[in-house]
Amino acid sequence: MAKIRVTIWNEFDHEINNERAKANYPEGIHECLAKALKADDLEIATAWLEKDEEHGLSQEVLANTDVLLWWGHGRHGDVRDDVAARVAARVQQGMGFIALHSAHHSKPFRLLMGSPCDVRWRENDDKCVVWNVNAGHPITQGVPLYFFLEKEEMYGEYFSIPTPDELIFISWFEGGNAFRSGCTFTRGIGKIFYFQPGHEMYPSYHNKDVQKVIANAIRWARPAPERDFQAGAKMAPVVEKAGK
Ligand code: ZN
Repeated sequence: MAKIRVTIWNEFDHEINNERAKANYPEGIHECLAKALKADDLEIATAWLEKDEEHGLSQEVLANTDVLLWWGHGRHGDVRDDVAARVAARVQQGMGFIALHSAHHSKPFRLLMGSPCDVRWRENDDKCVVWNVNAGHPITQGVPLYFFLEKEEMYGEYFSIPTPDELIFISWFEGGNAFRSGCTFTRGIGKIFYFQPGHEMYPSYHNKDVQKVIANAIRWARPAPERDFQAGAKMAPVVEKAGK
């Protein structure tokens, strides 16, 4: 079977400008994930906000991406609207999309959800328990029934997303909040997974269970081999604007 072409996109701002984030991810979250996810069946590339004028997400890059991972937080507004629309259109055409942590407020995720995707949040060193509530799902294979993150940013309900296709994880936080921390969606013929752990101030992407979930999600979200990647092109609702 052909390798899965993965592009890991990261805003890559906190790890340059914030000492705590830099200590957790000296080479950036994208490089941490690229190393952790390295496997024979994956062809991994990285891109970031300031990589080039199109944030490293040209038409050509997206046309050659099977699954796109997205991490962003403070600079969602700096992502070009036409690039965000291009990403959403590719998902409609079959590209898998994995929205990590604060990517809940990213332009592509909000376009795909069609809702504000707001959450309650608190950065207070909350201990977190991630509960696997879908043990038969491909994304949870090899993942225990629950695992702990000693410190994670609290994300709590209400999470203003459309009702997910499937609920994969629910997280409990020490302060008492609960959150739908792992959710799947389908848009067009593309598969989408949202996964909450990954605040830049904590080392969550070094956690083996978190890595396993993301690795599983990539394989789950890949376009089916027999799927015509262009099949959904005509139903993409997002019309790309000319360059900004
Ligand atoms: Zn965060």
